[in-house]
Formats: sequence, structure tokens, C-alpha cells
Amino acid sequence: MIGTSNDSSQDLFGLMSRLYPLCRSITGDGVRQTLKILQEYIPIEIREVATGTQVFDWTVPKEWNIRDAYIKNPEGRKIVDFQACNLHVVSYSAPIRKKVSLEILKAHCFTLPQHPQWVPYRTSYYKEDWGFCLSHQQLQELTDGDYEVFIDSSLKEGHLTYGECFLPGSTDDEILISVHVCHPSLANDNLSSMAVASSLYQQLSRLSLRYSYRFLFIPGTIGSITWLSQNESRVSRIRHGLVLACVGDAGSITYKRSRRGNAEIDRAAAQVLRDSGAEHRLTDFSPYGYDERQFCSPGFDLAVGCFMRTPHGTFPEYHTSADNLEFLRPESIADSISKCMGIFQLLEQNKTYINLNPKCEPQLGRRGLYSSIGGQTDGKIRELAMLWVLNLSDGTHNLLDIAEKSHLDFGLIHDAASNLSAHDLLKEV
Ligand SMILES: [Zn+2]
Repeated sequence: MIGTSNDSSQDLFGLMSRLYPLCRSITGDGVRQTLKILQEYIPIEIREVATGTQVFDWTVPKEWNIRDAYIKNPEGRKIVDFQACNLHVVSYSAPIRKKVSLEILKAHCFTLPQHPQWVPYRTSYYKEDWGFCLSHQQLQELTDGDYEVFIDSSLKEGHLTYGECFLPGSTDDEILISVHVCHPSLANDNLSSMAVASSLYQQLSRLSLRYSYRFLFIPGTIGSITWLSQNESRVSRIRHGLVLACVGDAGSITYKRSRRGNAEIDRAAAQVLRDSGAEHRLTDFSPYGYDERQFCSPGFDLAVGCFMRTPHGTFPEYHTSADNLEFLRPESIADSISKCMGIFQLLEQNKTYINLNPKCEPQLGRRGLYSSIGGQTDGKIRELAMLWVLNLSDGTHNLLDIAEKSHLDFGLIHDAASNLSAHDLLKEV
């Protein structure tokens, strides 16, 4: 529908480069700073929900912030420094300043022996603890002695912060786009979906829309639970939704269906991916993954699928320092944006029509509908699309139903419907 110009993909890389160093977590100033930067691109409203607020079976946690952290070796030299890489501290680590033996230090250190140069990403949100993440190589170089561990963090009453952005269409029916904003310096798993969502807002805001679009920039799990808990009365307006995650790597697209499995969003995504001719994967819903887990919990069962490239946990760089800006591919970001826009375009255009000349086929040649297609090499397929649209437009089949039954591209079916409507052979229901 709309391509991504080089200018805008450079913009998105500029955005991601600015967001990359921020130490995000499920609460705290890293999320606030992230949302403030995103506000330069799209009109996000920043919302704050107080610690202790009950949200279904959960409670909004204490707010965590961190200023500094390091490990000093027995000679007093900093060997692990939060300022150099925010992955070095286990997210939600309690404050600590003391000397510990190598043995105790090791019990609080996390590494990746299979990738000895990389630093892992670890969290301890709901169990108060402290810890460091470092490369396995670094851990192996540590010698006996007393190490100074210092984490200047705070875990206090505060708020959970999230961003919300609403783009009104001509109806109250909504399409939800949700991304998580709780990971620190990780690029594909976090920043790519923030950048793609921002670009989708910008592109959609230039169009005349049937649906209203609601964008959520939320901490994973607790953010969607909080939003659903505080917006339960509005949830019924959500007709379709996509959770976006890991949308910038070199892999092909994976679409994970909603819990319903055959919702319009599931079929729209499958159709757009099929029509694109590009390699892709469709997977069934499972209660493991991103915030689709909450949107698709049985009490809501929303038509929300998950749009990814390589799924979480299936690429070695996942949740490690190797998921950095170099891991992202500009062409993948652009392709993710264009496929999502294709899905939204399909949903916008997926209308139901009624054939105004249902008794036998209308004479297309008399109306110039053959001649208008005669010069085109794909004339036959366009004619076939018209026959399918005329035959199935009985008020019970929408254009996506017709595309699926005919095995023709949605774009062809939509063009046929527009053409037939212009010749008064079809009317929108
Ligand atoms: Zn993650």
C-alpha cells in the first residue's frame, strides 16, 4: 500500500539508536524516557498506575530505578560496569554495596557458556534479589579474592508507566496494536516493534480510515494485564489486533494466530502473506509468548494475533547482548511495516456486497467491463475475479471469503468489486 522511503527507515534507525542505551524495565524512568522520545514521532499519552493497584490477580509492583552498578576486583579495578552495558545488572536487582567472596559472587552471576563473548539478559521482577550478567569468558578469568559489588538501585512505591495512542477512524470499531517497552539494550526484541508501531501510526494517520486504531506501548505481561483491568468496559470495541515483537531480524515473517484461530485478523494475515509470495510461517495460538497471552485469555478471547519475524527464543541472539542494532536489517523493518499495512488495508477494504443483477450473469461486455480489461495481459484473471465477486456477493460473503474461496489475490477481488460497483452491478451491504 505504502512503501517505506529511505528517509523514513533512516528516521527509524535514528529513533532506535536513541532508544537503545536506555535502561528500560517493567517500571521506572527508562520507560518514561522511552515514551518521551517516542512522543517526538507520534502523539503518545503517558499513563501512570500506582504501585499496589490491584489488576485482576496481580498487583502493580514497586517502581525500580537504577543509577549505577559495578563489580570491582580484589585490586579495586572495575571489571563489570553498568555504564558500559545496562544488561550487566539483573533487572529489578535490589540495591547492594558489599565485599563478597568469589564463590558468593559467582552464585549471583549469569553467563552464556555456549556463547562465551555475549552477555545474557536476566530479570528478577517478582523475587527480590541482586545479580550481574557478564560474558562467560569474563567469568572464567576471575581469580580468588574479595570483590566489591555495588548496585545503586531503588525499589520503591511509585508507578507503572505505559503509553497509549489513539487514532480515530469513522467508526468506533478498533484495531489494537500492542508492543512491549520493558527490555533494556535489546534491539530486535523490543526496539524494532516500537519503531514499526510508530511508523504504522504515522502512515495510518495520513489515510482516511474506517477503523479506529489504538496503540499500546506497555511493559510485557503486567502492562497488558493493567491495561485490560483498567479498560475492561472498552475492550468490546476491539475487533482485531496485533502484538508486534521481533520484527527487525533477517528472518521471514511468522504470524501466530489468535486463540480463536480463524478470526478475521488471522485470515487477513494469512491472505496478505500468501498474496505476497514471500516465505512465511503461520502458527497456531499457544499460551506462551508476548501479550497475546493476556489479550487471548479466555475471559477476553480477543481476536489478537502476534506478528513476528523469527520467533522469540528461536534465534541464538535472543535475550543477549548480540541482539543489538547491528542485528537489525533495515529491509526487514521496512518489510514488517509494509506487511502490517497490507493487513490493515485488507481489514479496511474487507466489505460485504450484494449483487444487484443476481438472476443469471450480467452482460459484462455491454457495460465495457470486458473491453476495459481486454488490453491487459492479466485480463483473464481479472474477469475470473469479477465472476467470483458477482457469484458470491449475496450479502453473506465478504471480500476475504471470496478471495479464500477463489484462491485469488485479495487485491484482485477488491479491484473487481470496485469496478462492478462503479457499473452499478454491486452495492455495499
Ligand atoms: Zn523478550
